[in-house]
Amino acid sequence: MSSELEAVIGLEIHVQLSTRTKMFCGCELSFGDEPNVHTCPVCLAHPGVLPVPNEEAIRYALKIGMALECEIAPRSIFHRKNYFYPDNPKAYQISQYDIPLAVDGRLGDIRIHRAHLEEDAAKMIHVGDSGRIHGSGASLVDFNRGGTPLVEVVTEPDLRSAAEAAEWARLLRETVRQLDVSDVNMEEGSLRVDANVSVRPSGSEELGTKTELKNMNSFRFLERGVEAELQRQRELIEAGGTVEQETLHFDPSDGTLTSLRSKEEAHDYRYFPEPDLVPLAPTEEMLREARESLPELPAARIERYEEQMGLEAEPAKFLASDPGLGGYFEEACRVAGAEVGPGGGGVEPRVVANWITGDLTATLRQRGDEEDFADPTVSAEDLAALVLMVTEKKISHGSGKAVLAALVVEGGDPAAIVEREGLAQISDAGELESIVAAAVEANPEAAEQIKAGNQKAIGAIVGAVMKETKGRADGGEVNRLILEQLGD
Ligand code: ADP
Ligand code: MG
Ligand code: ZN
Repeated sequence: MSSELEAVIGLEIHVQLSTRTKMFCGCELSFGDEPNVHTCPVCLAHPGVLPVPNEEAIRYALKIGMALECEIAPRSIFHRKNYFYPDNPKAYQISQYDIPLAVDGRLGDIRIHRAHLEEDAAKMIHVGDSGRIHGSGASLVDFNRGGTPLVEVVTEPDLRSAAEAAEWARLLRETVRQLDVSDVNMEEGSLRVDANVSVRPSGSEELGTKTELKNMNSFRFLERGVEAELQRQRELIEAGGTVEQETLHFDPSDGTLTSLRSKEEAHDYRYFPEPDLVPLAPTEEMLREARESLPELPAARIERYEEQMGLEAEPAKFLASDPGLGGYFEEACRVAGAEVGPGGGGVEPRVVANWITGDLTATLRQRGDEEDFADPTVSAEDLAALVLMVTEKKISHGSGKAVLAALVVEGGDPAAIVEREGLAQISDAGELESIVAAAVEANPEAAEQIKAGNQKAIGAIVGAVMKETKGRADGGEVNRLILEQLGD
């Protein structure tokens, strides 16, 4: 029955901008400094102070809005969002409400509802047993974080599974990282994800009642939290109950969901326009600068690798996940003459991609350290030379792997390694023919089975030839010769 209840998920992502100073004052941004050293009358909300918007933050926010293909509002408005909690001495957050900086965008297949600018709250640190009035615990406030510029990105409820939500959030992080406007570090809280979750009968257009999971600090926890909440809602509904709108906390250590509060409504915040700030109107120069600074982003790169270079979805995603890695792949393709694309002659890009995502990655992973593709262990030229030798059948695929392993460990020139290790493929047809003939003779049983139509038996003879030639024979050619000699 649960298969009939479809998952509906929308994400709200808070991105801390890595500007030099805070959103409305000149205090420096810092992470990990001694508490309460980066404060001033503005971010401590002394009476009579005035906020001054940070232009760098506006420029960063414009880049995010444009990277998400949003429309940029010519004049967006700051509002006061009123609430009482010790993490904000003003008792309101300056945020944006009905006229945000950016609306109606898209990242991959997921629509972006809006992206707006706001300020972060101070960081609360709860120590000891702070739940009891006479307990030993306390709640401490570190105002260093208070007033940090944030962009909040809000998706439409377009995500349809926990795994899709986590994967999309990764794409968003990678996109923002490449804009160079945030550290996007989930553990340090510079990227924070809330998930809105509901279920509905498959095929229904109406939205079910949603709950909100707050602040999951890793993609794995996001996926597990959403999965747990989907299961809870499905079981509840199947048992005849209804979902209550509320805010939940997911504890990854034991998988439990606890209710933090019943969901507040917008009117609870008494939003009103910030009287101390004029509308935010980016200049033509700011818009142009943001537009021109956008690099090719992962979503566009994935599309190009798939559509122009003929890659499958998985390797395209993998190679586009990091600009250094993508550049490495493209450089290797160029050197191997593969840039012409599939069917255009030369080595096909997907063959180069296979070597990178398969053998090279596996070999590097065995060594255990992170590869920096801007300064790679095996240069793109050397990889290309290796791939060419295999494609042109100068060495076998197996020998290619051996050369790659040697390159990773000791570097050097692929052709020289082939020479030194005697890996050049046997190109003399007569020599290979006689080795095959000997192998057929030495394996009469397998030969009989092949003659009787059992193609699988060919493996034994191919293996014998490879052993004799130390892997220097072309597998396809060996196959062909065996069948030829057995009169097939
Ligand atoms: P709220 O007013 O409660 O903040 P919004 O309509 O502003 O709700 O949406 C906040 C987030 O919740 C957005 O990401 C949106 O896509 C998502 N969302 C809204 N309704 C649902 C729903 N029924 N199920 C899942 N997600 C939803
Ligand atoms: Mg909201
Ligand atoms: Zn300050």
